Amino acid sequence: MDRPDPLETLLGLTRLLSTERSLEEALAATTDAAMLLLPCDHASLRTFDDERRFLLSSARSGLGQGHRPASFRRGEGVVGIVADTGRPALVADARTDARFVARPDAGFEVRSLIAVPLFAGGNVVGVLSVSHAAPDVFGARDRDLAQLLANCTAPAIETARLARLAVTDELTRAFNYRYHHLRLAEEVGRARRYGDAFSVLMMDLDHFKDVNDRHGHQIGDEVLRGFVERLREEVREPDVVIRRGGEEFVLLMPSTDAGDAAQVAERIRAHVAAAPIATSGGGVPLTVSIGVATWRADESGGALEGRADEALYRAKAAGRDRVEVADPA
Ligand code: GH3
Ligand code: MG
Ligand code: MG
Repeated sequence: MDRPDPLETLLGLTRLLSTERSLEEALAATTDAAMLLLPCDHASLRTFDDERRFLLSSARSGLGQGHRPASFRRGEGVVGIVADTGRPALVADARTDARFVARPDAGFEVRSLIAVPLFAGGNVVGVLSVSHAAPDVFGARDRDLAQLLANCTAPAIETARLARLAVTDELTRAFNYRYHHLRLAEEVGRARRYGDAFSVLMMDLDHFKDVNDRHGHQIGDEVLRGFVERLREEVREPDVVIRRGGEEFVLLMPSTDAGDAAQVAERIRAHVAAAPIATSGGGVPLTVSIGVATWRADESGGALEGRADEALYRAKAAGRDRVEVADPA
């Protein structure tokens, strides 16, 4: 394959990254650029998990898309060593390189490999790797090109990561109150422009004070995390999970009418009540009360959530572990 001029690829990428991009877009643009820059059949970018112990796959291009991406512990395999040392690695043949850890389920063979660190603020924040099924494919220039690509992309990826962190609730990884108002206004705007349906769920955990009193605040925190995990199992990709504060959560549901929203709410309620939440102190039974409201033409986001809150209040008053729906439009 004829590859475009590296300069053009890097120029295009840096231009793209200089406009406001989400983290996912920045990551995907980087592995796509790697495929253009280097004679590889696979490119992947891994970033550290929150505890900086594992390198988790964040974006991939080329071969192996249908397979589960491999993650590496810090120090494990070529990728883990690069993360640990902050030095690039060039592998001529993975079969004879002691650093290489084979992942037979990757869906493709790796013989040639380059892995380079992404730095931000003096720390390794991720590792870019490119590979080929044939040995001896890459040279020192390819390694340097890969490092140049990583250097171009690291600041944008770090900026996007920090922006995401600022709107993420630390305990549950749900979005936080900062994001809530921005996104609510955005979704109401979208519903107004396109005449699209839009629903919200207000959720409040039942008798949560008792959970803390009985099991301690620490276990209470684990229950909050467990609740969000359950919640995520019932929501669809476009839905936005927000921790409003304390033990109160909001689900914004774009393109969702009243009937569908009520169904999802009931599924969430049932899923939470179905089995105790697993914690380090054993299972803790939990229920949630939910208020549902669907946007009325020309209603503000605040008014919409006010109606969902009223419905939630009714769910509490009627005995908890219930879903109540606000009056339809
Ligand atoms: P109900 O909603 O069913 O009326 O009763 P409740 O006991 O859940 O109501 P209330 O809103 O009065 O109490 C919420 C409790 O949630 C009180 C507070 O200590 C606890 N809580 C809030 N934030 C956190 C948190 O981050 N971690 C833990 N462990 N508890 C929290
Ligand atoms: Mg509450
Ligand atoms: Mg409560």
